[in-house]
Amino acid sequence: MLHREKRILVTGAGGFIGHHLVKRLRAEGYWVRGADLKEPEYEVTDANEFEILDLRQYENCLLATRGGIEQVYNLAADMGGIGFITASHAAIARNNILINAHMLEASRLQDVKRYLFSSSACVYAQSKQKDSNVIPLREEDAYPADPEPGYGWEKLYTEQLCSYYRQDYRFETRIVRFHNVYGPLGTYDGGREKAPAAVCRKIALAKNNGMIEIWGDGEQTRSFMYVDDCVEGLTRLMASDCAEALNLGTDYLVNINGLVDLVCDIAGKRISKQHDLNKPQGVRGRNSDNRRLRDVLGWEPSITLKRGLAVTYSWIEKELEKAGRIQKLVLAQG
Ligand code: NAD
Repeated sequence: MLHREKRILVTGAGGFIGHHLVKRLRAEGYWVRGADLKEPEYEVTDANEFEILDLRQYENCLLATRGGIEQVYNLAADMGGIGFITASHAAIARNNILINAHMLEASRLQDVKRYLFSSSACVYAQSKQKDSNVIPLREEDAYPADPEPGYGWEKLYTEQLCSYYRQDYRFETRIVRFHNVYGPLGTYDGGREKAPAAVCRKIALAKNNGMIEIWGDGEQTRSFMYVDDCVEGLTRLMASDCAEALNLGTDYLVNINGLVDLVCDIAGKRISKQHDLNKPQGVRGRNSDNRRLRDVLGWEPSITLKRGLAVTYSWIEKELEKAGRIQKLVLAQG
């Protein structure tokens, strides 16, 4: 079905999830504007318009939302993996609160009909994530508040801001709490990458029977969601009536050692692990309770970790080949 008249803004459209979302919305026939500090790194955008804008500036948020935009997916954020978000609490919290406060106000004043804020499982109380065999987190476990310093506090506060806008202005907001999204076309190097991409890169770069470094003892647990499921969930949530915060993730729990073993199988390599206990590893265990997700959307992510990682590994391996960092394996002829 074509929806050419409906105009949608995706902020963070130069980033990982935003770029995939733009592709999906365009494939469905929507008119899409992307906005970001940068263009997508690995592919040309599919957006009808793509504007380089620093959304910490209020005037730029007004520009991004101009011209009859009906829906906003606000995915722009200063973010990265655990090493990145634990290293600069002040800058991350400041940058993100500016983007989010200004995007909300600009969207309201430009008469946007529906606004989705991308929150994170980092809002959950740290005290409830101290065991690797963690009880899956329900949406109400974000309170009493004890989130991840910096990044998690900012996300939790912006969730509140969205609900104040709903109460005071009847502005329609949607709030998604992502749990570890991974897939191709995401950052895999440079410090902002997250665990699945970092593990794929390290294994792709390692020789068979070699060794890679793992942050922490590798017993810390997480659940991981493939990006196609993430985009599906986002569009379903936007279309739903759910104004409460909603988990979006899988509830398949795996520890980091298990994740490494899975990628080794995909790569066909035997690799030993060297654990560095001085590196940040985040909370001990985190999993998504998907009861509300199933109730509200009648759906939940279903792409298995094995399948999603196979696609991700193969993409990262090719990127490393293109960059001349690994040799393409040429099988001997004859
Ligand atoms: P990403 O870093 O790939 O994308 C974020 C984009 O925002 C980047 O392209 C960046 O350039 C842009 N940006 C940063 N500051 C900006 C500014 N001042 N003005 C305009 N653009 C700016 O991250 P992602 O994984 O695609 O995450 C998208 C959203 O989902 C973010 O809000 C993030 O906090 C949230 N999230 C992601 C995950 C995950 O596992 N990927 C988990 C929880 C929450």
